[in-house]
Amino acid sequence: MKASVNADECTGCELCTQTCPEIFEMDGDIAVCKDGEVSAELEETCRQAAEECPVECIIIDD
Ligand code: SF4
Repeated sequence: MKASVNADECTGCELCTQTCPEIFEMDGDIAVCKDGEVSAELEETCRQAAEECPVECIIIDD
């Protein structure tokens, strides 16, 4: 599974970095993926972060 953040839409609310800090981190005012490839054990938490993103700008690619 891969994950990425649409930088044009991210508002920098930091929610994903709190929900899934193993994958998401802040880069200035926006969140970025530390590693685009999500390991199996982090998939569920990463999906949760994507579902909870207020502007739905986390892209999951199965
Ligand atoms: S939850 Fe969404 S809007 Fe908030 S920082 Fe993460 S990617 Fe950006």
